[in-house]
Amino acid sequence: MKYISIVVPVYNEQENVAVFYQEVCKHMEPKGYPFELIFVDDGSTDETVLILNKLTQQDTRVRAIILARNFGHQLALSCGLDHAHGDAVITMDGDMQHPPEMLPILINRWEDGFEVVQTIRKDTQGVSWFKRFTSKIFYRIINSVSNINMAEGGSDFRLLDRKAVDTFKSFKEKARFIRGIIGAMGYRQTQIEFVAPQRFAGKSKFSLRKMLNFALDGITAYSRLPLRLAFYMGILSGLLSLVLTIDVVYTKLFTADAVPGWATIAASVLLLGGLQLVGLGIIGEYIGRIFEEVKERPLYWVREELKSNVEAAPKKI
Ligand code: UDP
Ligand code: MG
Repeated sequence: MKYISIVVPVYNEQENVAVFYQEVCKHMEPKGYPFELIFVDDGSTDETVLILNKLTQQDTRVRAIILARNFGHQLALSCGLDHAHGDAVITMDGDMQHPPEMLPILINRWEDGFEVVQTIRKDTQGVSWFKRFTSKIFYRIINSVSNINMAEGGSDFRLLDRKAVDTFKSFKEKARFIRGIIGAMGYRQTQIEFVAPQRFAGKSKFSLRKMLNFALDGITAYSRLPLRLAFYMGILSGLLSLVLTIDVVYTKLFTADAVPGWATIAASVLLLGGLQLVGLGIIGEYIGRIFEEVKERPLYWVREELKSNVEAAPKKI
């Protein structure tokens, strides 16, 4: 019998985990597959861990991995994928924005032979126009500057076959943008659309700053275009100054006009200075990322794993 893992990163979701657990059981049980539900606690400071502990005691299918601090959504997801035993692994959010009633639909597509079942957020209720707008722009940019194609509205709610999970685990980069890795991985992929409801309770954990960092990770991880852009800007400004120089020399030699000159100089110094700073900034951004990668620190570390006392969490059946 095939075995399914469901991986859920949670960060301060005390009002959500119990409801989420019930909903998952409700929609998974009719399918008939044995499953494990792995919560990865991403350094919560509220009651989440207590509730997870209770759940693991009540139900041997529930496991909880408690990270030592907050590592961010993408690394918490990676931790869950590393710990999952299933023949298929489903990743989803714990705030009910990834509806558990979709679970059987994802599994059906897997049974059809797809190795990656990706969901696409069609419409999001109660999400500000600002978030929708910036998300649209982000996907436009990433699709035009990188050579991978990411569907707009792609979410981290997906099913991965064991083969795809193992491939994913061999991607070692620290600044991760899982959507990009999945896109680059290949395998037989399919997409299904869903409407994301509002959060069941609590607030979104993604501030504007976190979103910006996430977007920057995505772009710098999949594109060297910004570096090349700095190079092109250099060439362009070089050509401009050449034209300017010819003009200045021509005026000096062949016309009687007095050339006051400082305006030209000031303008070109400012322009060139600005362009150089932009170029340096872009190079700096990439070097910073190289620095982070070469340190080869672990992606995350675990404080403890909570399991039922009754018996060890179900291994592969
Ligand atoms: N999350 C996490 N670590 C973080 C931020 C969020 O594990 O640093 C979890 C969070 O508990 C939720 C999921 O990631 O289960 C998605 O987060 P959220 O709902 O805040 O994001 P949004 O849906 O607003 O994009
Ligand atoms: Mg959410």
